[in-house]
Amino acid sequence: MILSSEIYLKCSQCGYEISAGNNEIMLTGRCPRCHGLLFIKYRKPVFKVNKNERGIWRYSLLPPFKNRVTLGEGLTPVSRVEEILVKNEKFNPTGLYSDRASALISSFLRDIDAKKVYVGYSEEFTKSLIYYLAGVSLYIVASSIFDIDPEDIMLFAGKGLDLVYEYPNDAAVVYYENPLTIEGLKTIVFELYEKSVKTENIVVPAKSGILALSLYKGIEDLNEAGIETSFQVTAATLKGFNPQILRNLRRVKVFEVSEVELYEAYRKLLRKGFKIKPLAALSYHVAEIIGDSVAVVTMGYKTRTTGRGSDVKKLVLDIVSRKPLITAYEIWKEKPVYTLRAVYKAIKSMELNGEICFEVKTRGVRKVKLYKLC
Ligand SMILES: [Zn+2]
Repeated sequence: MILSSEIYLKCSQCGYEISAGNNEIMLTGRCPRCHGLLFIKYRKPVFKVNKNERGIWRYSLLPPFKNRVTLGEGLTPVSRVEEILVKNEKFNPTGLYSDRASALISSFLRDIDAKKVYVGYSEEFTKSLIYYLAGVSLYIVASSIFDIDPEDIMLFAGKGLDLVYEYPNDAAVVYYENPLTIEGLKTIVFELYEKSVKTENIVVPAKSGILALSLYKGIEDLNEAGIETSFQVTAATLKGFNPQILRNLRRVKVFEVSEVELYEAYRKLLRKGFKIKPLAALSYHVAEIIGDSVAVVTMGYKTRTTGRGSDVKKLVLDIVSRKPLITAYEIWKEKPVYTLRAVYKAIKSMELNGEICFEVKTRGVRKVKLYKLC
């Protein structure tokens, strides 16, 4: 039983509390009274940071799982892009902020020893989750092949995954919106707090509103652990899209932009060389308007793509010469200007070409490769 003396569930909308239930409630449970999304609550909330842990598992106030899956998600950099402070979620393993959710969901599935998992299709999230669930039998549930992004279909086919068009009778389907996703995404707030980012507004793009709801939950968790922050969440959305789940939440403001205005802002960013999706452009644009903000985005910089491979290699050599005997992950974290994947790829090829050498050492229970100059 996953609900315990440590955690219980509480409806995000009406406050109804649930202290017992089967495992599935963590993935598919909704409030029996109002169908609202459920929050995982901690009976003794204490906020602590274990700086030796990499990524999101450094924080307390996460469910007490036996297995903690991580591929290096979280601790994404905060930097200034032109006048705007951005927290760039591109620097997650698959380049998506849903990697934070995938880490929580895959840990839970490992705890309950799930052998076969149905994943409800949604753009981006599904891509991230299957990366985290390598080795598990996966079925993608969609209403029609037409509803799936063609690039995603190529990915599913390439990985030999089955598509299912009907809701299975015998198993739960993991959709993006669940209590574990919220726990994963809320770590964005914990990171901003840990780094003492001085800002009033955290601006996030809002379509379903789950990211904004999760950040709100992170602020609430800190408060309940006795920590006061000045953080407010601003959900940047399109006119007429005001998500239902964000209504009546203290500390969440909804800022609406027209379609025409968003497209104009988006084109401006593209012309400047940013590689950004319209939804991310939405939070960047709103942060520009309201000021004193940090915008949560996923964005790349076109200018960095020329001769990229050799640039990454140069950076790796520079870091290894200054800090010998360092893991690939630590090399990336030292200066996260490229994606984790790009850095791993560069190191792999340098290893093959003999441009970089390594020693294998035991750290805790794991064997790790520590890189050095040859
Ligand atoms: Zn409710």
